[in-house]
Amino acid sequence: MSPLLARCAFWQDNDTGNSGYTVRILCRETGERLENFSAVRIAEIYTSIQGEGFLTGTTSSFVRVTGCNLRCWFCDTPYTSWNPQGETLEVCEILQRVKSLGRRHVVITGGEPMMYTDLVPLCGQLRAANHHITLETAGTRFLPLDCDLMSISPKLANSVPSRKRAAAWRERHEQRRHRPAVIRQLIDAHTNYQMKFVIDRPPDCLDVIRYLKDYPQIPRERVLLMPQGIDGFTLASKREWLEPWCHQRGFHYCPRKQIEWFGKLPAS
Ligand code: SF4
Repeated sequence: MSPLLARCAFWQDNDTGNSGYTVRILCRETGERLENFSAVRIAEIYTSIQGEGFLTGTTSSFVRVTGCNLRCWFCDTPYTSWNPQGETLEVCEILQRVKSLGRRHVVITGGEPMMYTDLVPLCGQLRAANHHITLETAGTRFLPLDCDLMSISPKLANSVPSRKRAAAWRERHEQRRHRPAVIRQLIDAHTNYQMKFVIDRPPDCLDVIRYLKDYPQIPRERVLLMPQGIDGFTLASKREWLEPWCHQRGFHYCPRKQIEWFGKLPAS
């Protein structure tokens, strides 16, 4: 009789709306778990040019997880949040695909990557293979993982979806979006970090000032303000007032270069 036993279980995560199958290989005699194929649900792995933040212009492999514990109304990757799609991949399969793309820089983004504890071994193995890792998160969950640039994009009050669009998610989003203890953990654990805020209207800038008062350890040169928009016209009109405001106060203005380079993002 084979000493191995395969167990397959359906799972559903109420936090993210994700679902999938977990396969475990157990020892038939002891019940010990020998292999665990529960892995990361991935929307896409591809090569592109980083369009936002300190590493703008760097050609990188992007690993985009699917699933998010928030529901920003302006989410530009709704296929990872409002309507999560993708395939569940083992860490070794993800590593293989990244390797085949042949780039040193890897951006792990989402969705919310911190939803997946398997990110810890994934980052460890990417570092061991000499990859430079940028981890993009909304800063609502902490994982003890290795990366070279921790990119935190806290979600302000301007991100909350309307009651009409999603009454239940509006409440959950509001409860989850602001986690000061997690933000402190992230910036304590990662000396190289950036804070990116999405700005929709001028009053949002004052919200950023209020937000940062609780984190005096964050220097303004680590803060980037990014216009909300998914097309060039919207971004250009917001740039007119946002860029000078940033420069006067020592913040970085963060254009969304990927829209300039590759055109309009899909509407959420
Ligand atoms: S946190 Fe990011 S992925 Fe999640 S809903 Fe907001 S913008 Fe989308």
